Amino acid sequence: MTARSPGSVRVRFAPSPTGMLHVGGARSALFNWIYARQRDGVFVLRIEDTDAARNRPEWTDGIVTALDWLGIGPGRDVGYEGPLLQSGNAAEHRDAAERLRATGRAYYCDCTRDDVVARTGLAHRGYDSYCRDRGLDAGPGRALRFRTPDDGATMVTDLVRGTPTFENATIDDFVIVRADGSVLFLLANVVDDVVQGITHVIRSEEHLPNAPKQQLLFEALGHEPPTWAHLPVVVNDKRQKLSKRRDKVALESYRAEGYLAGAMRNYLMLLGWAPSNDREIVPWSVIEEEFRLDRVNPSPAFFDEKKLRAFNGEYIRGLSTVDFIAACQPWLHGDAVPWPDDAYDAGIFAALAPLAQTRLGVLSEITALVDFAFLPQPVDDEASWAKAMQAGALDVVEAAAKSYADCDWTAEDLKAQLAAVGEQRGLSLGKAQAPVRVAVTGRTVGLPLFESLQAIGREPTLARLTSAADRLRAQA
Ligand code: GLU
Repeated sequence: MTARSPGSVRVRFAPSPTGMLHVGGARSALFNWIYARQRDGVFVLRIEDTDAARNRPEWTDGIVTALDWLGIGPGRDVGYEGPLLQSGNAAEHRDAAERLRATGRAYYCDCTRDDVVARTGLAHRGYDSYCRDRGLDAGPGRALRFRTPDDGATMVTDLVRGTPTFENATIDDFVIVRADGSVLFLLANVVDDVVQGITHVIRSEEHLPNAPKQQLLFEALGHEPPTWAHLPVVVNDKRQKLSKRRDKVALESYRAEGYLAGAMRNYLMLLGWAPSNDREIVPWSVIEEEFRLDRVNPSPAFFDEKKLRAFNGEYIRGLSTVDFIAACQPWLHGDAVPWPDDAYDAGIFAALAPLAQTRLGVLSEITALVDFAFLPQPVDDEASWAKAMQAGALDVVEAAAKSYADCDWTAEDLKAQLAAVGEQRGLSLGKAQAPVRVAVTGRTVGLPLFESLQAIGREPTLARLTSAADRLRAQA
């Protein structure tokens, strides 16, 4: 094992490749990344892939891609190493276990769980140290346990939590190598941190109970422990820890829905930390400048999807029109859209884009908002039709078609014409608009109507009004 070079900060993000990148994990990664950046340090991505049954290599690729989307990766003026695979250090893990055994800091044990429960009568308590002094050699069915000191206490230095202190008497002799020879997380993770020269372990609070055990391992192996920082657990609206079975936790799902990376990373930074002056939406440069690990709040952080959505809306509105149009492209082409690709018209979209930009929470909503412009027929939404096409609708649609046949094709004139149609019938503009909107767009709500009509043009508008009138006549 190599010793770390003095003075340089080296942090790591160490996910297990057992699924998509969790938003809580992404938050930890960002905190590590900024910490390294602020100190001209190195960020290591370590993939903890030793649980062969649960790991899949494609999850590793997914994690790398998701981090890159957030802005974490090579070539971004902070040292970046990785992905390094934990399995690549298997020999070092075994060596460390053997050293602990050879120096008397670990011993073999052949107790089964049932043996321990039979002796102690306690199903949920740790190990009772029965094999400590039996001097067992390695052998089938024998696990290797760490000999935890009986007395004293282990104090960890945690930049978020001060100096949590754990009585050693409350820590049992935990297993470090299973009977099948596989090295457990607690030891493998420590050995990797030593091999990789990690100076600061910044990770989620769930691992706080592991910190004293791991610190004891560092010390027993003759290495200085890292400085710890256990970030607050991320919870849902019921104050439950976010879970992939219950909550939408995959960063990838948010990306696919059309969250912008900028909004996502700004929001993730607020899970435990806040910029100065009660600000929340702030440029990344401010975050990098102001972030301090010692100002992280240790209490649980609420992942509020509604708030994230509001952030995203703000970020969407902050884009230039050109960037907004570019950002929408994945939701305007390909399998996810209901129109044939050659029906998409960039000119029409450019006219609709500024209208849509102020209305989106997530980019994926763009598809339904503009589908009327590219589908051969508007969507047939029964509820919208029933709501808008009541008595008098046919008359309004026919009158609109008539005046739209030769008016100026500008939003102002289209509006004035329809206002006049309504007035002659004692209808407000809103009431007169409803059947026209449903005839042309298929829906009762959407983008500003007259600008939409102007964008798609006279012929398609008239064709839709005529076909709606035919349908209304047939219904009558
Ligand atoms: N593989 C562990 C996890 O994903 C890493 C824990 C750590 O950062 O030390 O929770």
